[in-house]
Amino acid sequence: MKSITTKKDYIQSLKELHHAVYYNGKRVEDVTEHPALRPHINAAALTYELALCPEHEALMTAVSHLSGKKINRFTHIHQTVDDLIKKIQMLRLIAHETGSCFQRCVGFDALNAVYMTAYDIDQKYKTDYFEKFRKYLLHVQESNVMVVGGMTDPKGDRSLSPSKQADPDLFTRVVQRQSDGIVIRGAKAHMTGGINSHEILLMPTQAMKEDEKDYALSCAVPLNAPGVILIFGRQTNEERKCEEGFDAGNTQFGLVGGEALIVFEDVFVPWENVFLCGEHEMAGLLVERFATLHRQNYGGCKGGVSDIMVGASALAAEYQGTAGASHIKDKLAEMMHLAETLYSGSVACSAMGYKTPSGAYYPDPLLANTTKHNVTRHIYEIARLAHDISGGIVATMPFHGDLKNSEVGRYVKKYLAGAQGVPAESRMKILRLIENMSGGTALVESMHGAGSPQAQKVMYGRLGNLEQKKRWAKRLAQID
Ligand code: SF4
Repeated sequence: MKSITTKKDYIQSLKELHHAVYYNGKRVEDVTEHPALRPHINAAALTYELALCPEHEALMTAVSHLSGKKINRFTHIHQTVDDLIKKIQMLRLIAHETGSCFQRCVGFDALNAVYMTAYDIDQKYKTDYFEKFRKYLLHVQESNVMVVGGMTDPKGDRSLSPSKQADPDLFTRVVQRQSDGIVIRGAKAHMTGGINSHEILLMPTQAMKEDEKDYALSCAVPLNAPGVILIFGRQTNEERKCEEGFDAGNTQFGLVGGEALIVFEDVFVPWENVFLCGEHEMAGLLVERFATLHRQNYGGCKGGVSDIMVGASALAAEYQGTAGASHIKDKLAEMMHLAETLYSGSVACSAMGYKTPSGAYYPDPLLANTTKHNVTRHIYEIARLAHDISGGIVATMPFHGDLKNSEVGRYVKKYLAGAQGVPAESRMKILRLIENMSGGTALVESMHGAGSPQAQKVMYGRLGNLEQKKRWAKRLAQID
């Protein structure tokens, strides 16, 4: 594939992909022309566009440790703590431009997680996954394709392990081993950026046992491979993306990551694209590393998105004449405190990162989990404060169509006027932005993206060193 450099290249590459995308029961021939898909494409395109801006080069690009060439940072393997910190700065920067998820970090994290784990698998089993993965990585770096990080399986009955499910396909698995490759079947759920990526890098969804070797699987698959089907996920206010006007809130970039269900119906994968196949003891390590690398991010992107919410809430207050009230100033200060707390967590886990045996750097896992856990709470609180500042009008405004209507438009302008000199349209636009950024799918993404809160609590049990904490307490209490 020709290297993708500009937004134009990226869009052209998606037009030529001819992957099987479904939206609301209909096959989409060209995802770049679909009004509900285009905002997500615009957000991901910024990961290409900003890399071409000289002022953002240090954050958006890196030097490949494989080729020595300048590459897009989203294809880089972290070589230092500074790389880990730059990742977070980059995510906040892009979030300021999009106000939404720009999707490409999931594949970035999958590349890093598989890289460091393939090395460890080879050390243990004398396999050749690492060398194969380095070749795959070089292809990703040189072509600059967008990769989906594919971890979450549908999982069916959560009380049952993969091999005990009534339908064995509820966890993605190998159904056939051949001399030239494997055949896989199953699905990956909530795949961020799925419909506008080129390839998917699959990983297991959880630790696997001896009898679950077929589920201990990592491999790369082009999204236009025969048997791959993508079904776009419906979001809150989905239809608004297809309407004229500003009711969608963020009309340019959407509000979440454009998640999709990706089905693998007996898909062939050549051996050179297989990086874990049956070494079940290593599945858990790969899952933990990917989860840590993605949880590391959340104070970067959600910190940036929160900055937009703070700005929008401050504008709503100004437009409504409440900006001078002390309780509004207090709420805005609290929102900023929460946003910076999220960001500090991401910076901290990056600063405390360390080198893995593969040479790739890895953030501190306990702090990365804490960061994501804070996101599951603070984003809801930031949204609550934004609603508080905005007033009930954020949920009861007329349509954009009413504002433009020749009969009732004058009433909308008259009765939605706020502070003197502020057009009703400006007030409505900022309130729509707040409404859509602070409700429904946008909040759920903060709760469950990169793993649900319980997944983070499990990590405290494993990494929190409770026994040491008890020893410190006993010593001070002078208990033998
Ligand atoms: Fe990247 Fe954040 Fe979206 Fe995850 S939620 S893909 S970290 S922008």
